[in-house]
Amino acid sequence: MLQDAGLLRDRFPHVPDRIAGLGELAYNLWWSWHPAARMLFKMLDRPAWKESVHNPVKMLREIPREILESAAGNPDYLEHYDAVLERFHNEMGGKPCWFAENILDTGCSPIAYFSAEYGLHRSLPFYAGGLGFLAGDHLKECSDLGIPLVAMGFMYPEGYLRQKIRVDGWQEHVDEILDRDAAPIERVLNDKGQQLVVKVPFIDPPIFVAVWKVSVGKVPLYLMDTDIELNDPWNRLISAHLYIGDMEQRLRQEIVLGIGGREVLDTLGIRHSVLHLNEGHPAFAILERIRERIEDGMGFDDAARQVRDTTVFTTHTPVPAGHDVFPFHLMDKYFSHYYPKLGLDRDVFLQLGIHPEQPAAGFNMTAFALRMSAYNNGVSKRHGEVARKMWRSLWPDRKEEDIPIDSITNGIHVPTWIEPKMELLFNKYLGESWLKDHDNPDIWKTVDDIPDEELWQAYIWVKIKLINFIREQARKRWVEERNSPLNIIAGGTLLDPMAFTMGFARRFATYKRADLIFHDLDRLKKFLNSRWRPLQIIFAGKAHPADDEGKRILQRIFNFTENPDFAGRIAFVEDYDEQLAQYMVHGVDLWLNNPVPPMEACGTSGMKATLNGVPHLSILDGWWIEGFNGRNGWGFPGFGDDRDAEAIYTLLESEIIPLYYKIEDDGIPHQWVKVMKEAIKNTGAGFSARRMVKEYVNKFYHKALKSAASESAL
Ligand SMILES: *Cc1c(COP(=O)(O)O)cnc(C)c1O
Repeated sequence: MLQDAGLLRDRFPHVPDRIAGLGELAYNLWWSWHPAARMLFKMLDRPAWKESVHNPVKMLREIPREILESAAGNPDYLEHYDAVLERFHNEMGGKPCWFAENILDTGCSPIAYFSAEYGLHRSLPFYAGGLGFLAGDHLKECSDLGIPLVAMGFMYPEGYLRQKIRVDGWQEHVDEILDRDAAPIERVLNDKGQQLVVKVPFIDPPIFVAVWKVSVGKVPLYLMDTDIELNDPWNRLISAHLYIGDMEQRLRQEIVLGIGGREVLDTLGIRHSVLHLNEGHPAFAILERIRERIEDGMGFDDAARQVRDTTVFTTHTPVPAGHDVFPFHLMDKYFSHYYPKLGLDRDVFLQLGIHPEQPAAGFNMTAFALRMSAYNNGVSKRHGEVARKMWRSLWPDRKEEDIPIDSITNGIHVPTWIEPKMELLFNKYLGESWLKDHDNPDIWKTVDDIPDEELWQAYIWVKIKLINFIREQARKRWVEERNSPLNIIAGGTLLDPMAFTMGFARRFATYKRADLIFHDLDRLKKFLNSRWRPLQIIFAGKAHPADDEGKRILQRIFNFTENPDFAGRIAFVEDYDEQLAQYMVHGVDLWLNNPVPPMEACGTSGMKATLNGVPHLSILDGWWIEGFNGRNGWGFPGFGDDRDAEAIYTLLESEIIPLYYKIEDDGIPHQWVKVMKEAIKNTGAGFSARRMVKEYVNKFYHKALKSAASESAL
């Protein structure tokens, strides 16, 4: 492995020995949620750090030797370096915290977490949206808490899609292949020193995967890559990008994820006792767990029971497109040789994945996972209810409230999503240990002690940072692509840091209704053109490449940005990614969320905003039903487009905009700052990934690990 000092030296031959630990640090995403570690790279050379888009591997490869040598001779730098490295090594080697010890007592091997996407950092484009960030935040929090977990997924060289908006507003896709050698991922090597390649079992012609590893603090994330010469061209494309539209290729993708993923863990010698499936895509892993037990002589029913008792399944959406259903002829093509290995005939096998309300539709991955896991959950209280209704026909004898689908509300990884300036402010007023103890609600009471002017000043600084970032992006396009001046306006060059700014950034799935605010154009124009109290809106987000309706909505919005009637106060920023999300959730004044209820199972971008003092204006759906308390933002029930748009206009007009512009004699809108504080107070503990992971442990992991332990004792 690259962690090996010799290999690191080969990789970064110009890094002096005294600071050779930079190489090791660069390959562990731990740096991404520790500002002091990021600072270590930034201090070397700020322009180079910016140029690398905050990717230390890329930066270390490209930075001239003189800069490194000068750092290695600079006592101030070395002092900081030693402190960070010491902390890094302590945390990586340290004992698990009390919370994890409690699990380790069961004496089990780690939990295996499988997900089709991971949102970890801008340098690793392996995500499409919220599902991926949820997975990424879960891993980071498990590392912080010392929960023994290994994760499995795909190395997608083309990511989801790199968005480019045409002059006429139509979304296009730019081909961009990840430079694997410049990303914080390592090749996993076999004993001959070559990259490990594993053959996916039970598929012919064969599919091979090369194995990569991302170190997420203490949690290893293994990624499979089919783009290698051993594979024929069709197979090479399996892991090209996320959520391939073609159903057969999608099925092959999920076979590789579930069955190939299990094989990779086996080859690495990683035994695991509990499986956690993040959404249905990796659910074929369940089959392998059953098959192995049958191979050892167990009958199907016993094997299935054991597997069920040690499997956790999280369903993430009520939207039908989020649940893969594979036609039976495709299942036969890929699994007819597999049915007998489970001792099942075709019909009994296929029954495992049939949704009783649509029996002819095919093999439903969610229905299959729900049946085969003892621990199922939706991702908010409301989504739990919706999921129990949606899947009740799987348990025809039970009453709705007894349907075995619980709920664990999503949370965000606080160290990742807190703006560094806010973090410093919190350090000052919440006590130095607030971050270590952030799921303790008492800590957040002291937010009231932050003087209004300090919070407001920090906040304005962050807002200006967002607007500068947007303008800088627009300038780059203007210079590099020589695009039309209209596109430059669309990209946000006329944004005004003094104007009240609303943000809307998310995937352009139609249910999210990105264009709801345009429902009554005259009304909207009045807000935008108000001389003394203007509103401006920043949009960002991508439509799925196959979703023409989503692209039409995007185009409609884009065309408004270029229309002088809208005063240059609407911007659309291209290529929404983790970096732009960070700037936006921190730097706008209000975060808008208006999906069609109950489609947004949870929503997490609003939590990222409120954690940083950006209040939420949202329909009462998903997490906001639990989060809204009347003081920390605004909520409205969903009654269809007309009334929902009306509710937003009315709130903006009668409450929100007047409150924001009610600036008192000292230059501060104290009443607005009060809402900001309430927003912060209500997020940090209850909607943190720490609270969420602890809930997974207490509700599910603990019991599942116990079942696993008692089985292995048999
Ligand atoms: C948090 C996040 C999401 C998820 O946001 P939702 O509120 O669930 O729509 C999507 N994309 C990025 C880049 C994010 O950071």
